[in-house]
Amino acid sequence: MSRKYNFSAGPAALPAEVLEQARDEMLDWHGQGLSIMEMSHRSDAFVSVAEQAEQDLRDLMSIPDNYRVLFLQGGATSQFAMVPLNLLGDKTSADYINTGIWSKKGIAEARRYGYVRIAGSTESEQFTRVPTQDELELDPNAAYVHYTPNETIGGVEYNYIPDTGSVPLVADMSSSILSREIDVSRFGLIYAGAQKNIGPAGLTVVIVREDLLGKAAAATPAMFDYQVHAGADSMNNTPPTFGWYLAGLVFKWLKRQGGVAAIEAVNRRKAAKLYDYIDSSSFYANPIAPDCRSWMNVPFTLANAGLDGMFLEQAEAAGLLNLQGHRSVGGMRASLYNAVPEAAVDALIEFMQTFAQQHA
Ligand code: PMP
Repeated sequence: MSRKYNFSAGPAALPAEVLEQARDEMLDWHGQGLSIMEMSHRSDAFVSVAEQAEQDLRDLMSIPDNYRVLFLQGGATSQFAMVPLNLLGDKTSADYINTGIWSKKGIAEARRYGYVRIAGSTESEQFTRVPTQDELELDPNAAYVHYTPNETIGGVEYNYIPDTGSVPLVADMSSSILSREIDVSRFGLIYAGAQKNIGPAGLTVVIVREDLLGKAAAATPAMFDYQVHAGADSMNNTPPTFGWYLAGLVFKWLKRQGGVAAIEAVNRRKAAKLYDYIDSSSFYANPIAPDCRSWMNVPFTLANAGLDGMFLEQAEAAGLLNLQGHRSVGGMRASLYNAVPEAAVDALIEFMQTFAQQHA
């Protein structure tokens, strides 16, 4: 078996240890004589797995007691609708900050349900940075403020948490959750598709402050109502049991790594190495303002785009997979999520150096 280095933006690399454990437990989970996928979500065995996963996530992120953690389906894309449906309440508008493709998708969906005010945007600068706190024009009467801490495609990331006063802050943390320490109490709601830093696709994690529950618009489908899921411990219907289980294994793995503070230090180092190399080279370039560069998704271009195909082919032959940039922007993108080891970044930089020497 030879596992290669996987720089996919999502579904993304998972820790080999986690996959090995899942393999070992696959046919007979803890002597029960069946796999975790084959048992009732209401069985004692599965409920214990589910509760342990939630507790481990609470420990990892120091989630305060007045927040509920939901394990849902539908991806972050469903959250684009669930957020306005549940949080607009009797307010007439919500504030959104526009920093790229994923912000825009959230904005477009929210416009189906209410008035979206743009409280900040860096579109005129091609999203090469995020707005500063001073640049935000926040409405104190907004139902909430929505932002995207890390833009997975653009590779632009906030290095601060916006201060929204008493207006609840909502974050699409799909591509940055668990990558660095954050103060959950600064947020009204956090959501994330699992397929980057949490586990397999098909699971979506929502962390929501309790006082924001129970305000869904009348026509909200039950499956889109946070209160319904919170009231049923995320078992209003059959939850994504395998994804929930695997997320639990990833949370345990992360604890063994020393938790979020420890992985944060590794992530900082991995990203810094790659950006330092890109900046030192005249062959590669990254357009993002240095203080807004993503730790998780590093887009870069080659001096000659005509070499892109050859770069990708040779990278793959060298065991470096999924470096192609998003189809909407082209170029390259290296995603450096928690499960991508530092050795993968070292191997990538070495490959990039050799390729640049051969083609400069
Ligand atoms: N938001 C962000 C920041 C993302 O990176 C993604 C997926 N790449 C999404 C939303 C959409 O997530 P999903 O495919 O789980 O709906």
